[in-house]
Amino acid sequence: MEPDKLKSNKMTRIVVLGGGESGIGSAVLAKVKGFDVFLSDTGKIAGHYIETLKEWDIPFEEGGHSEEKILNADEVIKSPGIPSNAPMVLKLEEQGTHIISEIEFAGRYDNAKKICITGSNGKTTTTSLIYYLMKNAGLNVGLGGNIGKSYAYQVATEHFDYYVLEISSFQLDNVYDFRPDIAVIMNITPDHLDRYGYNMENYVKAKFRITRNLRPEDCFIFDKDDEITIGHLDKIIISAKMLPFTQKGEVEQGAFTKDDKFIVRYEDEECDVYLKELALGGKHNIYNSMAAAIAAKVVDIDNKTIRESLATFQPIEHRLEPVMSIKDVLYINDSKATNVDAAWYALESQNRPVVWIVGGVDKGNDYSVMEQIVKEKVRAIVCMGKDNRKFHESFEKIVGKENMSDTGSAEEAVKKASAFAKPGDVVLLSPCCASFDLFKCMEERGEKFKQAVRNL
Ligand code: ADP
Repeated sequence: MEPDKLKSNKMTRIVVLGGGESGIGSAVLAKVKGFDVFLSDTGKIAGHYIETLKEWDIPFEEGGHSEEKILNADEVIKSPGIPSNAPMVLKLEEQGTHIISEIEFAGRYDNAKKICITGSNGKTTTTSLIYYLMKNAGLNVGLGGNIGKSYAYQVATEHFDYYVLEISSFQLDNVYDFRPDIAVIMNITPDHLDRYGYNMENYVKAKFRITRNLRPEDCFIFDKDDEITIGHLDKIIISAKMLPFTQKGEVEQGAFTKDDKFIVRYEDEECDVYLKELALGGKHNIYNSMAAAIAAKVVDIDNKTIRESLATFQPIEHRLEPVMSIKDVLYINDSKATNVDAAWYALESQNRPVVWIVGGVDKGNDYSVMEQIVKEKVRAIVCMGKDNRKFHESFEKIVGKENMSDTGSAEEAVKKASAFAKPGDVVLLSPCCASFDLFKCMEERGEKFKQAVRNL
């Protein structure tokens, strides 16, 4: 069914698959817009979400899908956690049912200007930076997507002039007509390849879906130093204002580093920011800050607010978050570094010897790219995972067998790491991997790490 028809339809049946943050928000929005809504989840739905469904009088089921209640949908909203080859999704596709994402659905009912950030690493940081900048500038702005309350729920219950949305590639998979006013791709490095048939091209294309509806008056902000992004840009045409950021040379429009500053250029405006004044350290955060500052210039935020905001932004939990110093050893929680590239930047940003805590569920990682940085920065490695073989194969030859150890919990890992560490060192949890072998999620891994540090 055509989306336009749905928009004006009296009582169309919408089925939402998945009862997490995204699904609940979609169901509430569909209800507010007068659809006949049904939500279905094969797993258990969290108690507070069930309350929301009851509050809004939305019928639902959990613990399984009833085909007869799903296959009669006019349109289905699929939560990003459900893979596109799930049996119910395949059945719906086979009978030709239109499947969309929450972002696509909510975008139909939202006239706010949208700044949408995707990429492999740096999404949450950059999204939060842009939101902070816009709040400080006094704009009426909402924050959503992968962060906090879902976009759809906010479209149903709030009114904002702007949205800053963090959008994962899974959320982009079922996007068709959604159009950001400013699209940002932070970088593209191998991640989640398991969901893309181990095909990098599919993953790159999924990220670039964010640009598919851009118009000439819209903006596209991207990393000019990222080979994969640039390689793909050579193959496609994007009809938006192109605003690259780079740490290698100048650009006419966009942002670039020069000596001890970075400079943003947008139309006739220019803003320079001292690197040493950025609140967030590390080369990767220069990229994140440049991307945020370009977006800020596009929405016409003054230079003073840009400089002050970038200088006062607080680190986000689980992202290079300093926990505490014990006996002159600084413990840093970077549990969110769930892929190789993120951990590379975490190591790169350290200027003290590192005892590195790694491990978890490997997503097809290639550790050869880490060898040089490990040689330069790492004193010892503590593996915290069920299967640590790949780490031993890759790094024993660099740090020495005696400087590697295997552990099966955060507590054990922190104890081992503190035994390896010398005064002046950093103990860095930056695992390169997902957390599901030993923990519920990366947040739990970070919390347990911090708790173990406090208990030392
Ligand atoms: P995302 O939301 O894309 O996962 P985050 O902002 O949460 O990104 O950062 C995740 C991890 O990736 C951080 O812990 C940090 O080590 C690393 N990181 C942050 N920004 C970048 C970047 N621009 N390039 C590479 N790595 C980054």
